[in-house]
Amino acid sequence: MKDKIDSAKKKAELITNNKIYIPKDIKLPYPLSKSTAGPVSGLLSIALTFANKNIKLVISRDQNERFSLQKEKGKFHILKERKIFLENVNMMPILFHSPGQAFINLDDRCIYSCAFCNLAMQGFLQKYDSEKFVKLILKASNHRDFQAVALTSGVYPENTELIKRMCYIVKKVKEKHPDIPIGVEPCISNKKEIILLKKAGFDEIKINLQIPDKKLFEKICPDFDYDNILNMLKVAVEHFGKGKVTSNIIYGLGESDKTIIESVKKLAKIGVVPTLRKIRINELNKKKLEEATSSGITNVSVDRILRLAHEHKKILDNNSLTTKTFETMCHKCGCCDIVPFWDV
Ligand code: SF4
Ligand code: SF4
Repeated sequence: MKDKIDSAKKKAELITNNKIYIPKDIKLPYPLSKSTAGPVSGLLSIALTFANKNIKLVISRDQNERFSLQKEKGKFHILKERKIFLENVNMMPILFHSPGQAFINLDDRCIYSCAFCNLAMQGFLQKYDSEKFVKLILKASNHRDFQAVALTSGVYPENTELIKRMCYIVKKVKEKHPDIPIGVEPCISNKKEIILLKKAGFDEIKINLQIPDKKLFEKICPDFDYDNILNMLKVAVEHFGKGKVTSNIIYGLGESDKTIIESVKKLAKIGVVPTLRKIRINELNKKKLEEATSSGITNVSVDRILRLAHEHKKILDNNSLTTKTFETMCHKCGCCDIVPFWDV
């Protein structure tokens, strides 16, 4: 039990720092990853595992970075300020974006402008049509670590087109792999879209609330309707089932713990298992967030991350929910957050 508490604390500390220095002379067993979506999107990252906990960290080129990787006698260790912090850490291969998952971003362009968003907006994925994505997923299915598929996307050129694309890809993949779990992270504006995605073959869905404080939400996600997202989450539970619907809640933008906890309670009450995610600030979103939040960006302490994770777990438990019902996306991957029932 004490070990679990200690390793959760260390994971929270790594989350707050978010970066690791890797000396050039260290030979890594797998290539580094560069995601086009998610909290470390656009940045080179490494996925590590220790004490049954996974973490993805951004690669820093600064030799004086607080955390660094060390290789000694064939084993990896994490150093903090040059002293041993974690021993026997393993690097995980990343299939597509996530260890064990072909988690595919269909478009790195978006017509919306959420201030926290890290989407690289490079249009790099333009050359990938639906057939190419199907081929990529089927190729990934031959990998020995392949366990699941998930689709996400920036909204481009518009949402109806994108939902159709997602449906096409899932149908094609399910023809070959009817039993493989497939998750989807779409923007949803109406009930019909949820029904289409379920009928096409998706098993799990993530509809992100993103910002728990309604007033902050309106500033940070000006293109979206807070109440409609809550309604769509309710509809999603009717079609996908309790424990198969999730939603990102991002914190660290001046909101109170009370606001976060109330929103977790609100979602859990309708059968949604949210992900609580500490905001990652970087050069892609810093300026946009500073402009959108007059209160400024707050530092999130290790204690706050752990306190919220324990509250999160308690609320899920009280509503007979767990993160362990998910076979795809973030609850299963666990690389970016303290995940109740896995990490605490
Ligand atoms: S909808 Fe918002 S969060 Fe999603 S990709 Fe577009 S800008 Fe980013
Ligand atoms: S936790 Fe979610 S966002 Fe982070 S790497 Fe895993 S799947 Fe991607």
